Amino acid sequence: MKYPPQAVVFYLKDDLLSPQGFSDPKTFLRYLELTLEKLSPIVKNIPVYSNLGKELSEQAQAISKKFKYSKFIILETSRESDYFAKICDQLPDSRTGDPEWDETSFLVFDGVAPLLDRNLTEELIQRHEKYLAQYSYSENLPSGIVPRILSREFVRSLPAEYSGGTQEFLAKNINQFDTEIFYTSPDLRQWRLDFSASNPRSRRLISSFLNEKENWKYDEVQSFLISHPEVFRSGPSYYEIELYRGCEYDCLFCPRQNLKPEEDNIALDPKVLDQLLSQAEKEFGLPYSVCFGGLGEPTLHPNFSELVLKTVSSPNLKELFIETALYTDPEKFIQTISGLKEEDKKKISLIVNLSTRDKRTYSQLYGKDNLENVLKNLRSISEVLPKSSIFLQFLKIKEVDPELDQWYEETQKAGYEIILQKYNSYSDVLPQRRASDLTPLGRDFCWHISRDLYLNANGEVSICKQTPGSKKHSLGNINQNSLVEIWAKGNPFFTASAQGKHETIPAPCLSCDEWYTFNA
Ligand code: SF4
Repeated sequence: MKYPPQAVVFYLKDDLLSPQGFSDPKTFLRYLELTLEKLSPIVKNIPVYSNLGKELSEQAQAISKKFKYSKFIILETSRESDYFAKICDQLPDSRTGDPEWDETSFLVFDGVAPLLDRNLTEELIQRHEKYLAQYSYSENLPSGIVPRILSREFVRSLPAEYSGGTQEFLAKNINQFDTEIFYTSPDLRQWRLDFSASNPRSRRLISSFLNEKENWKYDEVQSFLISHPEVFRSGPSYYEIELYRGCEYDCLFCPRQNLKPEEDNIALDPKVLDQLLSQAEKEFGLPYSVCFGGLGEPTLHPNFSELVLKTVSSPNLKELFIETALYTDPEKFIQTISGLKEEDKKKISLIVNLSTRDKRTYSQLYGKDNLENVLKNLRSISEVLPKSSIFLQFLKIKEVDPELDQWYEETQKAGYEIILQKYNSYSDVLPQRRASDLTPLGRDFCWHISRDLYLNANGEVSICKQTPGSKKHSLGNINQNSLVEIWAKGNPFFTASAQGKHETIPAPCLSCDEWYTFNA
């Protein structure tokens, strides 16, 4: 290499810099060590920069020395662009001798990269040099497999007032720069993998890989994940909880109408929610989202407010989605929200099913002439919950599709957030009503079997959201089985899904068009 990079930068996002991000500095230092160990045969004798806290400075210094880096420099700054600008000021002068061309560049890791692929990284650096790029990155490799390469020319062209991320700036202005986009198969973007240790799920993933062996090639990743489903399915990230199976509406698009009367009107025992959340916290210890949904109106649960309070106070909860038709008296819920701490209130997203603003269509869709009441409740809730936390949900079905543009405009004008919901026929249990078919042409594994856990009001956990209320499709019952045990039962079905053996999964996968939708 004639012009190798002049520095290595570990840029840590806020999450990793927070006290929680550093809860285990020993592991972080080990990951830093592995990254530099894998990188040093390609580039060394250059400085390493990071915005990591000063408390780890001494150990980080020793690690960089061990792998022949000139020094470890901790620079603190609030904005990414300022941070890189400071580094550029400290890098040596251009080596080209050409006043028009500054070839100086540096490697950037967004987090750390203990599973760095050395060969791919070397190839990326060589291509950056060969094509005289100002910015090089991979679009399809997961974070933590190769670094990004930024040139000083790129950094110095950032507007002084720019406060966003450099990758986002490049994406918006890509035609202005000589950019090298590095593509290597297999394309695993669908897997949403992250090997940068920037969040707990990523750290769990890295730890499972490293327990197997230390040196990985990128092309070994997929087969390992398929043969070890527990590595990818390290815990649910989305719990759909049917607080109350029952409703005063008869919606056209709800499979609840097909249930036998004895299977309807069931309220979840609050102890079941307690057990679920405490096990989610203790056994998995990963961030998760909860949705109060299922086949029914959650606000009809007699303990609805207490269940909201219980859920939002769970330490690892990221978001609580409450999916409602909003026809019940909201007074008690309003009081509950008003009494919440600001940080807990922020976790709540209210999803209001409101696919029309036409009174007559509303009655036809939902089976009740109740639009005025719902709009009144919406106004009342908006006084305690910011509109940025209230999502009006429009179901994309033929019956209301012509209204969409006007509905969208009005909702935006009113300041609410918008969800355009895909119609679910529950694998042809309901008539096909979708306004358009968005199913990808190539079939991949199912996200619901990978990350979701669907809890019925009677404590049964369904194999997936497509078999609600069905005992036949149950993986276990929270009253009798542990959450870990129930979750592990889904592992072979994930493997079958990832291998394309959909017919072997005891769920209606072959006629299902929900597999590509991602909740959390
Ligand atoms: S693809 Fe199969 S597992 Fe996934 S949601 Fe559909 S029926 Fe359930």
